[in-house]
Amino acid sequence: MEYRRMGKSGLQLSLLSFGSWVTFHQQVQDISADTLMGIAYDHGINFFDNAEGYALGESEKIMGRVLQQKQWDRTSYIVSSKVFFGSRQHAKPNQTGLSRKHIIEACNEALQRLQVDYLDLYFCHRPDKNTPIEEVVWAMNHLMQQGKIIYWGTSEWSGVEIMQAHAFAERYRLIGPTMEQPQYNLLERNKMENEYLQIFKTVGLGTTIWSPLASGLLTGKYNNGIPADSRLALENYGWLKDIMATETKIQAVRNLQVLANEMGVSMANLSIAWCVKNPNVTTAILGASSAAQLHENLKSLDVLPLLTDEVMQRIDGIMQTKPTLPLY
Ligand code: NDP
Repeated sequence: MEYRRMGKSGLQLSLLSFGSWVTFHQQVQDISADTLMGIAYDHGINFFDNAEGYALGESEKIMGRVLQQKQWDRTSYIVSSKVFFGSRQHAKPNQTGLSRKHIIEACNEALQRLQVDYLDLYFCHRPDKNTPIEEVVWAMNHLMQQGKIIYWGTSEWSGVEIMQAHAFAERYRLIGPTMEQPQYNLLERNKMENEYLQIFKTVGLGTTIWSPLASGLLTGKYNNGIPADSRLALENYGWLKDIMATETKIQAVRNLQVLANEMGVSMANLSIAWCVKNPNVTTAILGASSAAQLHENLKSLDVLPLLTDEVMQRIDGIMQTKPTLPLY
């Protein structure tokens, strides 16, 4: 395993990490979660990602039980939670969003579910357009002072919002967001390759990437229809199927399959390796509903040396998703 510093911070994250969205509670119960996290840890993964909103808190409870069972040295791993979506089905006011009240209450609840004394990383899962960014910065700094969180960050915030948080933090000698969790994969490149470029250079944002396989689309498993045991066949994820399983995206993946075959690598390995080749990526969070998938995806770093400039250009030509930057 390779480790990268998270932005300008001293924290080292494994280049591949492991997350539980969709899988834990719906597809993966305690025993399989224990197996998956064990495989991840034994391969050098040191970051486990979670959120209050995943399976309405049940995902954190499963991870907490596994962490209890494993008894790994607490200093050897990094665990996260995210606040915004809430953990209650019919949320009342203040049970979602980024008010100081919800940020603090959600943190306390995540600590209980995960059965840990502190969160290494705590993310604002989305920007809250109805809460001043100052309130978020103060709340996160309060939690850091209390020792309940170590780093705070954002997920899917705009570059402007991230920099507003930094400007405010600087004014009051507080700590701004150290990391962002954006989607980044061969189908979604704009934030990482355009919007955040200046931020990487100035405040030095770390990034924990979500959906490096675009929910599995980039494995090629949807090239000939939707397999019954796949994520996009899950009843409550019809909205995701509508976003992901479009003819344009699937055709691009089919075209990429030709290159993967030529290179003698799997689509999953090619896509994950492509993602972490970007030096602004701190870690790509793997999702897996089975041990076989995780074992397969863990081999992705072996493909990195094959990603020559020529191969990268061919990928750009096939996918047609590279953002166009303004010319001068
Ligand atoms: P991926 O894009 O890698 O998708 C993972 C899914 O793809 C698996 O659950 C599995 O689904 C399928 N898959 C993975 N590997 C293979 C393989 N080798 N062969 C065939 N199918 C495979 O990642 P996720 O979308 O799961 O995101 C990763 C993590 O990122 C999450 O767990 C979460 O921690 C985080 N995240 C954060 C978000 C945010 O807003 N901050 C949003 C989304 C995710 P199946 O078997 O069911 O088809």
